Amino acid sequence: MRYISTRGRAPELAFDEVLLSGLARDGGLYVPAEWPQFSADDLVSMKSLSYNDLAFKVIHPFVGGTIDDDALKAIIARAYSTFEGGEVAPLINIGDDIHLMELFHGPTLAFKDVAMQMLGGLFDHVLQARGEHITIVGATSGDTGSAAIEACRDKDTLDIFMLHPEGRVSEVQRRQMTTVLADNVHNVAIRGTFDDCQDLVKAMFNDTPFRDRHHLSAVNSINWARVMAQIVYYFHAALHLGAPEREVSFTVPTGNFGNVFAGYAAMKMGVPVKKFIVAANANDILARFFDTGEMRTDAVVPTLSPSMDIQISSNFERLLFDMMGRDGARVESTLTTFRKEGSFRVDQGMLETVREKFDAARYDDKETTETIRTLYEENGMLIDPHTAVGLAAAKAKHDHDGTPMVVLATAHPAKFPDAVEAATGVRPELPERMSDLYEREERSVTTDNSLDAIERLVDDTLGAEAAAS
Ligand SMILES: *Cc1c(COP(=O)(O)O)cnc(C)c1O
Repeated sequence: MRYISTRGRAPELAFDEVLLSGLARDGGLYVPAEWPQFSADDLVSMKSLSYNDLAFKVIHPFVGGTIDDDALKAIIARAYSTFEGGEVAPLINIGDDIHLMELFHGPTLAFKDVAMQMLGGLFDHVLQARGEHITIVGATSGDTGSAAIEACRDKDTLDIFMLHPEGRVSEVQRRQMTTVLADNVHNVAIRGTFDDCQDLVKAMFNDTPFRDRHHLSAVNSINWARVMAQIVYYFHAALHLGAPEREVSFTVPTGNFGNVFAGYAAMKMGVPVKKFIVAANANDILARFFDTGEMRTDAVVPTLSPSMDIQISSNFERLLFDMMGRDGARVESTLTTFRKEGSFRVDQGMLETVREKFDAARYDDKETTETIRTLYEENGMLIDPHTAVGLAAAKAKHDHDGTPMVVLATAHPAKFPDAVEAATGVRPELPERMSDLYEREERSVTTDNSLDAIERLVDDTLGAEAAAS
C-alpha cells in the first residue's frame, strides 16, 4: 500500500514513513492510494471475530507489509489491553433503533485512546526496528494531551513534552496528564493560553537546528495512523447491527473531522452506510458547509463540549480530496483561497453528491444540557456533553425506517462532571481504577511563555537523560 498527498506534490510513501512524518511535505495530508475492498462475503466471515482480530483484518492492508503480522497482532493486543474489561466499543441500545457506541473505556476516558494506544505501539515498533529515537512535542487544551501521554509512557524509543496552559485545563484533564510519572513523560505548564502553547510548538518545529537535534515529531489528529485505527469500530458496529445485509447510519460529534472521516473510509471499503450525521456544537462551520456548500470560518466560542470548539477541521481536507476527484492541484488552490479569504465554496453538483451520504446538525449548550437531562430521566443513563450533541442530532435526523442509528459516545461522563451534574443533579463517578485520581502525586514544570525557555527545558532534560545513560 502506497500513500499519496491530498495536494499531489509530495512523494508517495509507505506506511512506516507516513506514520513518522505526519504532514506531507507539500502541506497536504496522506491518504491511501486506493481503498482496500471487503466484499459482502468477507464481511459475513468477519462477523464472529473478536475486536482485536477484526482490527487486524481491517488494518492489515493499510500497513502493507511494513510490519510483520505477529508484531501487528501484538501491538493491537497490547493497545486494547488497557481498556476496561477489554471492551473497546460496546454498543448500548437506548431504544428507538438508537445505539450508543461507547468509545471511552480506555485509560483517559475519551475516544482518542482508541487511536492513540495503537499509535504509541506503532511508533515504538517502527523506531525500534530502525534504531531511532524521537521527541514528541504537543500542545493540549485537554483530551488529546492525556491520551498521547498514556500512549507514549514508558517507551524507550521516545520522549514526550506536552504543553498545557497553566490553570486553564480542567482538574480531571490536568491530573490525567500530570499523574503519569514515567521517565519519558514531561508535562509543561505554560504561563499563557492554549494558543500560546500551540505557537510555541510551531516555533519549535520551525527552529530547524532544534528540530533536527531532537528528532521532533507530533501525534496530532492529521496522522493517518490515527484515522486508520478508528476505521475498525465502524466495521465492528455495522457487523453487530446487521451488515452486510442491512445498512447502518452513524452520528458523529465532530471537531477536526478525523472520527467521521474514518467512518467514510469504512464505507469506501465496503461497509454499507446509509448516512453520516455530522453533529456540531455552536462552532458549526461543518454543519454550515453541508447545508450550503460554503466553508466560512468564524470566531471560536467556548461551549460545554470543548473538544469540538474548533473552526478549521484539518481532516476535512481528506474528504475534499475525494470530492474533487482526487485532484491535488484543485485541493491546494481551494485551500489557499480559504487561508487567504477565510472561505471557499464548492459547486452545486459536488454538494449534492456529498449530501447523498452526509447530513449535519448543530446544538447549543442549552440543547446539550436538555439532551443530557432527558436521557437521564428516561433511561437513567448519564452521558457527556459531546455525546449529547451527537444524540440530539441522531434523534432529529433519524429516519425511523428500520436502519439502526449509531451515536459515537466520545467521552465518559466523569470527564465533564460539572456539565453532567448541572443537567441532572447527579455527579458522575470516575471508574474504580481511577477513583484515586485526586490523591495521586502530580509532576509538571512551569515555564514562561517564551521559545527560549521551553527550548532550554527540552535541551536540559534530554541532555541530562543522555548523560545518565
Ligand atoms: C476530539 C473529540 C471529539 C472530536 O473528534 P474529531 O475527530 O476531532 O472530530 C469529540 N468528542 C470528544 C470527547 C473528543 O475528545
